[in-house]
Amino acid sequence: MPAESSLTPMFRQYRTMKAEHPGTLLLFRMGDFYEMFYEDAVDASRVLELALTARGKGTAHEAPMCGFPHHQIDAYTARLVRAGRRVAVCEQVEDPRKAKGLVRREVIRVVTPGTLTDPGELDEKEPAWIASVAEVGGVVGAAFADLSTGSFLAWQSSDGPDAREALVERLQAFSPREIVVAEELPARERLAELGRAALTPVDGYAFLPDPAGELLRRHFGVASLDGFGLRDAPVAVAAAGGLLAYLRDTQKHGLEHLDGIALHEPRAALALDRATRRNLEIERSLRDGARAGSLIHAVDRTRTAAGARLLRAWILEPLLDAREIARRHDAVEELVERAALRETMRSRLEAVRDIERLTGRIVAASAGPRELVALRASLESVPALVESGSTLAMAFLRETLDGLDPCADLEQRLAAALVDQPPAGAKDGGVLRDGFHAELDELRAIRRDGSAWITALEAREREATGIASLKVRFNKVFGYYIEISRSNLDRVPDRYTRKQTIAGGERYVTPELKDYESKVLHAQERIVELEYELFAALRTEIAAHAHRLKATARALARLDVVCAFAELAVREGYCRPRVSEGLELRIAGGRHPVVEATLGHGRFVPNDTSLDPPASAIGILTGPNMGGKSTYLRQVALIVVLAQAGSFVPAESAEIGIVDRVFCRVGASDSLAEGQSTFMVEMTETANILHHAGPRSLVLLDEIGRGTSTFDGLAIAWAVAEHLHGRAGGAPRTLFATHYHEMTELAVALPGVRNLRMAVRERGHEVVFTHRVESGAADRSYGIHVARLAGVPAAVLARAREILENLEKDEFGGDGLPRRARRGGSTRYRRGETPLFALAEPEPRTPPPDPSVAEILAELRACDPDRLTPIDALQRLDAWVRRLRTRGDGA
Ligand code: ATP
Repeated sequence: MPAESSLTPMFRQYRTMKAEHPGTLLLFRMGDFYEMFYEDAVDASRVLELALTARGKGTAHEAPMCGFPHHQIDAYTARLVRAGRRVAVCEQVEDPRKAKGLVRREVIRVVTPGTLTDPGELDEKEPAWIASVAEVGGVVGAAFADLSTGSFLAWQSSDGPDAREALVERLQAFSPREIVVAEELPARERLAELGRAALTPVDGYAFLPDPAGELLRRHFGVASLDGFGLRDAPVAVAAAGGLLAYLRDTQKHGLEHLDGIALHEPRAALALDRATRRNLEIERSLRDGARAGSLIHAVDRTRTAAGARLLRAWILEPLLDAREIARRHDAVEELVERAALRETMRSRLEAVRDIERLTGRIVAASAGPRELVALRASLESVPALVESGSTLAMAFLRETLDGLDPCADLEQRLAAALVDQPPAGAKDGGVLRDGFHAELDELRAIRRDGSAWITALEAREREATGIASLKVRFNKVFGYYIEISRSNLDRVPDRYTRKQTIAGGERYVTPELKDYESKVLHAQERIVELEYELFAALRTEIAAHAHRLKATARALARLDVVCAFAELAVREGYCRPRVSEGLELRIAGGRHPVVEATLGHGRFVPNDTSLDPPASAIGILTGPNMGGKSTYLRQVALIVVLAQAGSFVPAESAEIGIVDRVFCRVGASDSLAEGQSTFMVEMTETANILHHAGPRSLVLLDEIGRGTSTFDGLAIAWAVAEHLHGRAGGAPRTLFATHYHEMTELAVALPGVRNLRMAVRERGHEVVFTHRVESGAADRSYGIHVARLAGVPAAVLARAREILENLEKDEFGGDGLPRRARRGGSTRYRRGETPLFALAEPEPRTPPPDPSVAEILAELRACDPDRLTPIDALQRLDAWVRRLRTRGDGA
């Protein structure tokens, strides 16, 4: 940008705006366009693929420039933000025609990833969180706001070594688009590693507990934050205050719907950590990350967007209180039984649009006429919904319906004001009804009566001039004029003033016509202006009721979810689970909701589950690959999640003692291909379970240990199972799917451990997976059956059987070689090598060095004889000899 002195006044204004909003790309409103200049123009022209031009070309003020028409603001802003820019929107805040000198301009909002609320950019079934993080004396806090709906939550960790881990867990659960932090926050860069969030460092003052608390109290207009449950949560307050300060800075206005804040208490919900949510495919399928194939997708029968978001929230945070859960089940049951009522309610819900987000747009003054009409139409259907629910008895829905404010006054106000099908833009005219506003009616009358007036004038002039073809017309360049064809020009009176010659004749005006024109044009202009003013005032008026609209939206969403759960139960044959304070987990005929939906009706094989610590706490599930082990494990977890979320479950019956955490881990499938890190992840996740699983938890381990060598893996799997079994306070309910047949011996060794297997039938040469779970350990040779199905040659299969038999009978010689495996002395295998690898390797390998020998050698090398006392030396020698002798190989 050139020096200040050489700038025009407009560019001086531009420079001030830029300086006040550092780090942003400035959209500068000029008439009907938003323009960008200098480096912003160069950057935006690339991102938005706009032509780069220049303003003041060839002069000393020449500036690179690009721009777009004002009505494309939402789409272009979204593109810029998606490309990582922060966008400051600078508007003309006075009418250019009335401005003396330069038009006044102001930045009205700064759009960032977390504050983008354009409906085209948001997923209607998911919330759009922006988060902040604070830390005070080892305690961390976080706040989460969703500007599209006005939700605002704050959380803080307990102090202790787990604080950071808990923070990461919270951030992962909310998956915000942007995280705001104080510049001074230590290790803040690490937060950026949490997936898709953009990290925004800001001045740390607002994150100090005192100013933060003060700002929140002022914003909510309260003397104390105790009412929000934040009395003993100063770090949550710090985070929330910091976030609110940032939102006020960027949004300037339109935060009225952040009208309260709640303490977020993850401990009140069944905990599903990130790995578990992923492995259970709760939100997305593992295969392609799509929503299809996930639990939520499979069970969502809601009719409204807010309902879909609430259902998602219920499933991600199932309840822990048996009575609360029963209240939801009661409500679902009532609607299961009353099919006609359910159908009526569901069809009435269909007319309800996203009131929550419409309110958000109204408050932010970005809602257009059609959005206000959508709100009206939604509110219109509320009384009928309430009426149809008047006979519902169960407390959960009764309370929802009894407390429901239909906002009838707002509905009537909107209905009186807005036409049924308004144009998209508030400045397009024709938004408001006749009769809504006296002045508007008058102006419209002038415009409307215009055509009658013109017709009368035309008739009068025809008569006066005797020219039958005389016409009064209008175009944008000349306004109104009288057109006379060439053949009649001699009859034109003197009072006509010629304006233009055209091919077929001439165009004239008269003083009378000019007078009229100015009146009509003025009326038209004033109509547009007045309509916009009235519309904006109406929007502000409705915005003042945001809290009521939000409450109504929440109630409708609840109604929608309960109806949806009932519909799901009926259509998919789900049953009401019995949820209790006990520890049992008994499911008869359980199904996997997603796999069942994929396979189609009647093709899924239901299975029973019975865990009841301490007598039966751990199930070791063995069976062939593709037998259905993973499906079975997950279905048990999903049934628990659904039950505690308030839904019925895919089973014939289910008795569920409240589960406080579900852990689901899947062994790394291919450590060779993905390197050791996969196994590392597997073990880190396993460690996490061992630290956190309690007696109320449900632990599902799918092939843990598979990411490393056989013996290592088995050893780890065994030790993990043993550890869970021996936990103080009691073993968590655990299902352990494994292909280590040896694990089945745990059932003999430890009380409370049961063996389960996937039943397999053999039909001739075929192995048939029945997908049925039964008691007992699997026959270990199914790997070979599967190898046969896969076309492995018969000779190899026969040999594999032979080796397997040796391994089973543990028939090894003192040399460590399987005795009966010797064949003509040509092939030798050592114990510890898996048979399949040995098959691929006909030549005997050099035995690996014995670890104890290697250790002794290392110790010898590290020994410095000059520094050893004779006694020392003798003692070491003695120790080494003993260690070597105990190996018994005389080395
Ligand atoms: P692997 O050890 O290879 O991971 P697995 O034993 O865990 O296999 P799953 O992945 O659970 O097997 O199931 C394999 C397939 O079998 C599933 O994709 C599904 O199509 C089918 N299947 C699993 N359980 C059932 C069932 N109960 N009824 C019908 N089909 C099932």
